[in-house]
Amino acid sequence: MTSYALIGLGNMGGGMAAVLAAAGHRVQAFDLSAAALARAAEAGVSPCASAVDAVTGAEVVLTMLPAGAHVREVYEQAILPHAPPEALLIDCSTIDVDSARAIASQAQAAGFAVVDAPVSGGVAGAAAGTLTFMVGCAEADFPRAKAALSPMAKTVVRAGEAGAGQAAKICNNLLLGVSMIGVCEALTLAEGLGLDPERFFEIASTSSGQCWSLTAYSPWPGQVAAAPSNRNYEGGFATAMMLKDLRLAQGAAASVGASTPLAAQAQALYALFDRLGYGEKDFSGLLQMLRGRLEDLA
Ligand code: NAD
Repeated sequence: MTSYALIGLGNMGGGMAAVLAAAGHRVQAFDLSAAALARAAEAGVSPCASAVDAVTGAEVVLTMLPAGAHVREVYEQAILPHAPPEALLIDCSTIDVDSARAIASQAQAAGFAVVDAPVSGGVAGAAAGTLTFMVGCAEADFPRAKAALSPMAKTVVRAGEAGAGQAAKICNNLLLGVSMIGVCEALTLAEGLGLDPERFFEIASTSSGQCWSLTAYSPWPGQVAAAPSNRNYEGGFATAMMLKDLRLAQGAAASVGASTPLAAQAQALYALFDRLGYGEKDFSGLLQMLRGRLEDLA
C-alpha cells in the first residue's frame, strides 16, 4: 500500500483517485469543490480540508489541475513547504513547458524528486485505470515514478528530462487537433458529393486516410460506438481543453521558432466553435459547425 495525496478531483483526478483507492492505496485528497470532495469520499478516498492536510505524510503527491497557474500556486503554497522531504512529486495536469520546468527546478532546489506526467486516455481512461503517462524526469527517478503511476496506467513512457512529458503531450495534441479537423472536412465533403458517410468511413478506414480521429473517435454519429459523437458530443474531451492545448503548442512553437501553420488554423477553428458557445462539447463536434448544422448540437 502506498500513501498518495491527490490535489484536483475533477473529471480526470476524480477517476484517478477512485482507481487508486480501489487498488487498496491510501488516498488523501483535496479540491476547491465540495461536490468533487464528496464524490471522492464515496469512492473510498479520504477528503481533506486543505492541500496542506492532503500532502501531510504522503509518499506520492499527485496534482491534476486545470492549468500552469493552478499548479504553480499549489506547489508554492502547499506542496513545497509541507510535503515530506522524501515524497515523490508528480504533476499529471497538462500545462505549459515553461511552468513545468520552473516547478521542477523549484522542487529540485528544495530537495524533492519531481516528475511531469501528463496523460492521454481521457475521462474513460482515468476511470478505468488505463491512462498513458508521458513522463519527464531524471532517469534515476523513473522506476519510482513508474511504480507510483502504474495502478492508473496502461502505459508509462519516459519522454526525457523535466518538462519533456509536457512537450510530448502538446505535440501529441497538436496532431490530434489537426487530424480531427481533417476528418471533419473529409466527412463534410463526402456528404456534399453525395457519398454515403458509412461507405466513406469503411473506405477511408482501410485506405491511406486512416487515422485515430476517424477509426477510434469518428465525429460522425453511428460510426464508432464509444465515440462522443453518439452522445451529442457530451462527456469527451472538451473543445475548451483542446483549445488550451493548441494555445500551449503555439506558445511553445513561438518560443523555439517552429513553424506550425496548420495548428494555428486548427486553433482558430476551435476558438470559433468555443465562442459560438460549444466550449463544453467534445472537440469532434466541430463537424457540425463545418456542416452548418450547429442546431443539431442543442
Ligand atoms: P476539471 O476542470 O474537471 O478538474 C480540475 C479540478 O481542479 C476541479 O475540480 C477544480 O475544482 C480543481 N482545482 C482548481 N484549482 C484548485 C486548487 N487550487 N486546489 C484544489 N483543487 C483545485 O479538469 P479535468 O478534465 O479533470 O482536467 C485536469 C487536467 O487534465 C487538465 O490540465 C487537462 O488539460 C488534463 N487532461 C484532461 C483530459 C480530459 O479528457 N478531460 C484528458 C487529458 C488531460
